[in-house]
Amino acid sequence: MNIHEYQAKDLLRSFGVPVPPGVAVGSPAEAREAARQLDSGVVVVKAQIHAGGRGAGRYVGEPACGGVRLVKTPEDAQHAAFEMLDRVLVTKQTGPEGRLVRKLYIEAGSAIEHEYYLSILLDREARRIVIVASSEGGMSIEDVAAEKPESIHKSWIDPTIGLSDHQSRDLAVKLGFTGKQIAAFAAIVRSAYTAFTTLDASLLEVNPLALTKDGALVVLDAKMSFDENGLFRHANVRALRDPDEEDPREQEAARFGLSYVGLDGTIGCMVNGAGLAMATMDIINSEGESPANFLDVGGGASREKVAAAFRILLADPNVEGVLVNIFGGIMRCDIIAEAVVSASREVGLHVPLVVRLAGTNVEEGMALIENSGLDVTVASDLADAARKIVAAVRARRAA
Ligand code: ADP
Ligand code: MG
Repeated sequence: MNIHEYQAKDLLRSFGVPVPPGVAVGSPAEAREAARQLDSGVVVVKAQIHAGGRGAGRYVGEPACGGVRLVKTPEDAQHAAFEMLDRVLVTKQTGPEGRLVRKLYIEAGSAIEHEYYLSILLDREARRIVIVASSEGGMSIEDVAAEKPESIHKSWIDPTIGLSDHQSRDLAVKLGFTGKQIAAFAAIVRSAYTAFTTLDASLLEVNPLALTKDGALVVLDAKMSFDENGLFRHANVRALRDPDEEDPREQEAARFGLSYVGLDGTIGCMVNGAGLAMATMDIINSEGESPANFLDVGGGASREKVAAAFRILLADPNVEGVLVNIFGGIMRCDIIAEAVVSASREVGLHVPLVVRLAGTNVEEGMALIENSGLDVTVASDLADAARKIVAAVRARRAA
């Protein structure tokens, strides 16, 4: 789960990370009042969407207006807010369709001397938390990696020891800090790391971490993501979920307790078991197409659950074909077949459907599908299924 910048900053502040004062607002009048209260000379008006690159982003139809604006007076903050609220902001991370901006963050402006980068994330390969830091902040870390890879430093944390101070001080020195700034940077890493582990975060990215003209270090941008499996422990984090920013397909799936992740491809996949789902996605890729989703309907899914899953797939405008791949162990193939048939009738099957069933009650399941009168292609195994759905999608595209 992702949260907004202002929410991440509130959390970080509560862990003692230095963050400039700021107020989240929903109207131009509130923006003016917030700027008046901050009384900071320069005020920054920042669009709150779950995507980065806002500074360099552009509002649809407003080529002069980006998602981060520096203003000097409460009236200018109000005017900027008027131009930024309820409009669509396009950034490198939103895709061309952009995101509707519903909230702004009004923040005290900092006089920046230099911008650094700091993030904490899970390195799955190393099976450790890793701290990544760079003296080149402000731009995306992918760009830094391409242009100045030598400026990126990493430090892995031994889970049996935890973060040790020498690690953060070592990073500070590598970033070029001297004197008091070494301790200031180490303290930020320590507090950020405590926030990360305490809250079961999966990513904490500060870009930029700014050195100000008066020598202080402050967090000017913060992004946090959380492990869904840890959310039950953190009511305060759960409360930060913003449904407006989430994939409606994923929300619908969550209502039915389905494990669903929306992707950018065109082949909808309904599979039971996470391993089989991954294998199915891989084989679709190796056949030259890409999956529209990851979906594990689970071992003992009910008819209703399977039907919901199927409806979600068919309702997705990107889906050009559906592959049902079920290995019926606990799950019975006839139940799957019934659910597929009834959901196809209910929603109207408008794309090719390939079904591969194996396991318990497979004959009954196949009979149900073959006698349904629906236009379904049956496959004998996983490779056959992938080839058939890819061929069907391509034939439909060519037609
Ligand atoms: P994004 O990463 O989405 O573009 P940021 O919050 O990083 O958004 O803002 C972009 C740039 O705007 C920063 O790199 C920084 O130069 C400037 N900026 C952001 N917040 C402030 C602030 N409070 N004071 C001064 N400059 C800021
Ligand atoms: Mg940023």
